Amino acid sequence: MSKKTLIVIGNGMVGHHFLEQLVATPAAADFDIKVFGEEKLLAYDRVHLSEYFGGSTHADLAMGTADWYAENNIDLRLCEQVTGIDRDNQTITTPVGEYSYDELVLATGSYPFVPPIKGNEHPHCLVYRTLEDLDSIRASADGAKTGVVVGGGLLGLEAANALKSLGLDAHVVEFAPRLMPVQLDSDGGALLKHKIEELGVQVHTEKATTEIIEGEDARLRMNFSDDSHLETDLIVFSAGIRPQDALARASDLAMGERGGIVINDQCTTSDPHIHAIGECALWSEKIFGLVAPGYTMARTLASVLSGDEEAAFTGADMSTKLKLLGVDVGSIGDAHAQTPGSRNIRFNDEQAGHYRRMVISEDGKTLLGAILVGDNSHYDTLLQYALNGIELPEQPETLILPESQGGAPTLGPDALPETASICSCHNVSKGDICGVIDAGCSDLGSVKTETKASTGCGGCAALLKNVVDSELEKRGVEVSKDICEHFPYSRQDLFNIVKVNGIRTFRTLIREHGKGHGCDICKPAVASILATCWNEHILATDHVPLQDTNDTFMANMQKNGTYSIVPRIPGGEITPDKLIVLGEVAKEYNLYTKITGGQRVDLFGATLSELPDIWEKLIAAGFETGHAYGKSLRTVKSCVGNTWCRYGVQDSVGMAITLENRYKGLRAPHKVKMAVSGCTRECAEAQSKDFGVIATENGWNLYVCGNGGMRPRHGDLFATDLSDEELIRTIDRVVMFYVRTADRLQRTSVWMENLEGGLDYLKQVVLEDSLGICDELEQHMADLVGTYQCEWKTAVEDPEKRKRFREFVNAPSKKDPVQQWTTERDQRRPVVEGEPA
Ligand SMILES: Cc1cc2nc3c(=O)[nH]c(=O)nc-3n(C[C@H](O)[C@H](O)[C@H](O)COP(=O)(O)OP(=O)(O)OC[C@H]3O[C@@H](n4cnc5c(N)ncnc54)[C@H](O)[C@@H]3O)c2cc1C
Ligand code: SF4
Ligand code: SF4
Repeated sequence: MSKKTLIVIGNGMVGHHFLEQLVATPAAADFDIKVFGEEKLLAYDRVHLSEYFGGSTHADLAMGTADWYAENNIDLRLCEQVTGIDRDNQTITTPVGEYSYDELVLATGSYPFVPPIKGNEHPHCLVYRTLEDLDSIRASADGAKTGVVVGGGLLGLEAANALKSLGLDAHVVEFAPRLMPVQLDSDGGALLKHKIEELGVQVHTEKATTEIIEGEDARLRMNFSDDSHLETDLIVFSAGIRPQDALARASDLAMGERGGIVINDQCTTSDPHIHAIGECALWSEKIFGLVAPGYTMARTLASVLSGDEEAAFTGADMSTKLKLLGVDVGSIGDAHAQTPGSRNIRFNDEQAGHYRRMVISEDGKTLLGAILVGDNSHYDTLLQYALNGIELPEQPETLILPESQGGAPTLGPDALPETASICSCHNVSKGDICGVIDAGCSDLGSVKTETKASTGCGGCAALLKNVVDSELEKRGVEVSKDICEHFPYSRQDLFNIVKVNGIRTFRTLIREHGKGHGCDICKPAVASILATCWNEHILATDHVPLQDTNDTFMANMQKNGTYSIVPRIPGGEITPDKLIVLGEVAKEYNLYTKITGGQRVDLFGATLSELPDIWEKLIAAGFETGHAYGKSLRTVKSCVGNTWCRYGVQDSVGMAITLENRYKGLRAPHKVKMAVSGCTRECAEAQSKDFGVIATENGWNLYVCGNGGMRPRHGDLFATDLSDEELIRTIDRVVMFYVRTADRLQRTSVWMENLEGGLDYLKQVVLEDSLGICDELEQHMADLVGTYQCEWKTAVEDPEKRKRFREFVNAPSKKDPVQQWTTERDQRRPVVEGEPA
């Protein structure tokens, strides 16, 4: 039997996925397959398009390879736009020629909608859809200062972030009264706006652009209907998408009233030999602007073409979970409570910046929708309730309350039914995962390869890992120590890879030893490893995107969104002059002042834009950063020792200062604290620290791996009567061995508990050099000590780094107007919930 010809128009995400699905069926053998793509590059992952600005290349984003097409006998014709369809003769035309088909698939996607504003054709008016668009934006950003994104939806915010990453002052102009109007309600939108502005992107809502003209101070000026205007050097339109349906329209296929190629449940158009999938297709009067529904259509069509009469597309879940500019946003199901009789439960913590809303059915039994802003930790659980119609607990509010108020996620992976959808991009249920595990998959990687779960938008990564871990544990399989899905290594392995290969950026590490784009688990862990290995500044361009919030702003973010400042006071010793400076700075900026348990002065209530000014003053007075924001050495506490105390037998203050100055700036898997007591009375509480030193008549006793906090543990006595040099050498070795071999976020106490052989083994390695690595450990520490820099000093002296700390880019001197304050015990403090300002 001669083969039929199948032509696919469009080599985008959905078109490519369709081919992957089709070649996996026996029906592929019945077709000669030709694919036409107008872009010059092979299909790539548009969802992660913005990473192109972060250094990812087309090869990183590519969804397949030319070899894959060749191996599967698919004739791939890139850079060849299809210009016409002749339905009567079943042919298509391109500038190169005419081709016959038996079955035709339209996977032409969509194009960005550019509102019909006078002046929108200016060369610095751009869109955000393809790699070429991004090249144009990069070129336009060259020499530019300001960039505006028109459209405050998902993509608009992503584009704004991209403009920021290009060093521009970014603005978002939105027609609606709030950001992300499709997914969020007014409270959620307002909170998101506030958070985005805190990060230095200026948001203008309820602005209708009437025209774009030449600017006076910048290339362009946008005039708005309320007579205001905004000057900018470039404009990116991100005001929605329109289905790419021109070909279908010209060939008289049935179209939706507002565009889109009408398809039935089998993804077939009004012509039985023409099918449409992805963002060009209109199903049940809906265009889906997400990749998961497109993939479901692709799977459906592949089944239909291979003769499956049951196959049908029945709609798709449009829930989304995203981190926009580092801000969590989630929207599930009927987020706007449009179902008749539906009721709402809301939790709004303005201080913490968390907003959560649940939409529940009239009988209170099922979750219809939800909105989350500021914290997505409840998303996976809520999504499972909504998608699987799982009956809500008696007090559904517990699902969105913080744990401290009796709320807690109540749905562990075990509570999910087999039918629970874990990955909606690839339609993988919990049952599918159990199935592949039973068939032999014994780690996360192989479950992903087998089921493709979490290889689409990646939103389900955490849930997938939980389900896989739980199912493997149930079957008695040891759960993999891999740091996350992107690296098949433990943190310890990654450390060795970085060190041995001299790797200095996350990008190189993931390209050469990992896969994908990284996540919230591996990025900060690798940032910490890179810092320990090479001691480069944490705000160096390559490292900034990896950091947690506190590290990003080199300050601890507090409940009300302001920051606290902790200057280093080694050993707790401070001169009166320096104390006066702290008091003066606190007074000038109206900061709440508290002496901490670790003998530091903590200054609370600074806004983002105040941080560099405050640090400049502190640095001028001789202070350095105390690293209170980092997983690094925090404090070395001391008693007064033999200088003042009648019982003291050694100079505990002098030793504490020596240790603190030696280890300051060291990055570790977890924060590290030390203390030195001048005699066994232990006034510095050294035994509750990671490294505790207690003076003896003959020198120093060293205790290791203690900690305070939630699960306190006394340190173990490690060595006795050490001289000053022996003490420092021993601590050097233990610290470096810990830093190299501990897991991500593992405290020294847990590290010790997990170390095979425990304390005795550690003694052998460190005191007897049983592994022959002590020289190397000492050398590494010496390198770190030799390359120390005060991170804040470097930041305030570098105008580019300083730019990160602006609240409002176009009004740098303006303070955050939202904070509400009151006075208590003669100091300013934030207003708490329910309290008048
Ligand atoms: C910046 C960005 C971020 C996104 N983030 C997310 C996200 O987080 N989550 C999510 O679910 N979705 C996201 N999306 C949407 C997602 O990328 C789309 O849903 C998906 O790409 C749709 O796939 P498609 O194949 O239908 O269209 P496309 O991927 O656009 O592919 C269509 C292809 O067809 C080609 N084509 C069109 N006409 C012709 C012709 N006549 N001849 C030849 N070729 C033609 C086009 O050039 C294009 O390459 C994002 C999109 C962008 C742009
Ligand atoms: S630990 Fe000993 S030396 Fe230090 S203050 Fe207490 S009693 Fe004095
Ligand atoms: S003990 Fe807990 S509540 Fe108190 S400062 Fe530390 S983390 Fe915050």
